[in-house]
Amino acid sequence: MKPIVESRLPTKYGGFKILAFEADVEQMPHLALVSDKFIKGTEKIVHVRVHSECMTGDVFSSSRCDCGEQLASSMMHLQKEGGILIYLRQEGRGIGLVEKLKAYNLQDAGQDTFEANVNLGHPEDGRSFVPAIEILKYLNVKSINLLTNNPDKVRAFDDVDDINVIDRMPLEVGLDPENKDYLEAKRLVKGHLFGAKS
Ligand SMILES: [Zn+2]
Repeated sequence: MKPIVESRLPTKYGGFKILAFEADVEQMPHLALVSDKFIKGTEKIVHVRVHSECMTGDVFSSSRCDCGEQLASSMMHLQKEGGILIYLRQEGRGIGLVEKLKAYNLQDAGQDTFEANVNLGHPEDGRSFVPAIEILKYLNVKSINLLTNNPDKVRAFDDVDDINVIDRMPLEVGLDPENKDYLEAKRLVKGHLFGAKS
């Protein structure tokens, strides 16, 4: 996978380059934000966050999930460490924004985030992390420290010969009374790792 365009992106967290990649199924491109401190071809372990789009959390600071806080904390960390944020356009675990909002109504009626997706005719989690792997290969990254609580994201790299997940850094941010049940469902249903509590 190759970028269509690469630009400079100064942010309040520090300087990044933003790369837009073609996406097959989405009209919106997958993105990589590469910290100015990142050196292509480095032999060092590169800190990486693979973040799936969540407009409500990332843009509107929704308290229904922890996405916005995870994104902000990742950018802060990656800027410091010279890492890479990969932003995949798979809103609502791949079901899209409209379906995600419908799922919110089912959640308000008592279903957990995964049951709600299934009852709308979608998989519990329809995401693919393959584009992230392709982007990391393009950036020539070999060893990574993955910023995630999600063991599925670590497992996505199991069969990838060229990239090794050397370490995992948890992102325990964004806890809010509004997302307590959501985070608990992620822990119980998907085995998300929330530090000492799990
Ligand atoms: Zn979210």
